Amino acid sequence: MMDEETKSIHEFDLHLICEYFAYLERQGPGSPAITAKALSFIDALGDASRIADLGCGTGGQTMTLAQHTPGQVTGMDLFPVFIDLFNRNAERLDLQDRVKGEVGSMDNLPFDEGELDLIWSEGAIYNIGFERGLNEWRKYLKPGGYVAVSEATWFTNERPAEIEDLWMDAYPQIDTVANKTAQLQAAGYFPIATFMLPESCWLEDFYAPQAEAQRIFLKKNSGNNAAREFIENQRHEYRLYQKYKSYYGYAFYIGKKIA
Ligand code: SAH
Repeated sequence: MMDEETKSIHEFDLHLICEYFAYLERQGPGSPAITAKALSFIDALGDASRIADLGCGTGGQTMTLAQHTPGQVTGMDLFPVFIDLFNRNAERLDLQDRVKGEVGSMDNLPFDEGELDLIWSEGAIYNIGFERGLNEWRKYLKPGGYVAVSEATWFTNERPAEIEDLWMDAYPQIDTVANKTAQLQAAGYFPIATFMLPESCWLEDFYAPQAEAQRIFLKKNSGNNAAREFIENQRHEYRLYQKYKSYYGYAFYIGKKIA
């Protein structure tokens, strides 16, 4: 049974969701150290390299990526408000010559076939689905190019019905590392590495900054029931994470296009 208190994020007004997440430096679990760790599995990048970060949000991880790699980085997100913040962040860090944010959709990429050395996507490939994303994005990579994505993952083979049902409703493609790795291979990549994101990426990097964001958001939208309900939902999601964090989380998957 679906927990009636929990709504899928898709049921809320997009303007409210964007406003809320624009107050945050990152829109999903992760950290600069984890971005750097995933990057440590990827070699052969140079000044001529072309990198795309799909579903980049306001660019928290994109800026880390750019600070650790040479080459040109394009961040892409569906929402202009995130891309505006992204481009301001790039300027603030003096990265604007190498890092550019563009509005676009990950299911309709503007790149040429074989153009990219690396496709990055943290906590965002779920928007079109892990398998579909891996399959469709592959043609934009050069032979030998890399894909690196973080994705919702079951940490155990079995889990309590409450959390299983919630995920089946929200994102049924959540799966074990073994199954996700097999999908990566089936999509034409050699699985280079996979690792689990630590709890701190959720608790400290993702949820902790939300307390202040929630305060500002509720003050600005006082009297708006949809806004209050959205925040209640975020808080409920956080409580579920605390309760079930040994059963699910994010894992990074790094693959190399074989040919
Ligand atoms: N990578 C960022 C944001 C993750 S949240 C981080 O880790 O902080 C998921 C992001 O995907 C959001 O910014 C959302 O706006 C974006 N998104 C949703 N659907 C998309 C689509 N079809 N194409 C591109 N971006 C999309």
